[in-house]
Amino acid sequence: MDCIFCKIVAGEIPSNKAYEDDTVLAFYDLEPQAPVHILIVPKVHIASAAEITPENSAVIAHIFEVAAQLAKEKGLDDGFRIVNNCGEGAGQSVKHIHFHLMGGRTFGWPAG
Ligand code: AMP
Repeated sequence: MDCIFCKIVAGEIPSNKAYEDDTVLAFYDLEPQAPVHILIVPKVHIASAAEITPENSAVIAHIFEVAAQLAKEKGLDDGFRIVNNCGEGAGQSVKHIHFHLMGGRTFGWPAG
């Protein structure tokens, strides 16, 4: 499958890893939008948040546990943002579900 994040999970494309276990990989975004900007992905290929089902949602819950742990480790005590872009209209450029964990600056709402 021609999926860049599957290739990162498989070690075929290098990444700057922040966390890894049996089901999840977290690595630093190549184009950081905040002082801390980590992508958290399931190792299994799920195309987007629109593909979450009762059968695959356990890994999504686990991703949020990992996000909380990483936020603590990175000292994001003032707050952090977790972003998922679902679908091209929402700005999803990589079709393997991923959650952006961003912190270290203040954020606007709904954008910025
Ligand atoms: P999205 O636009 O929500 O699909 O987010 C995709 C993110 O993946 C962007 O923030 C990119 O900077 C990031 N990205 C793309 N390729 C890589 C890569 N090889 N290593 C790390 N981050 C990447």
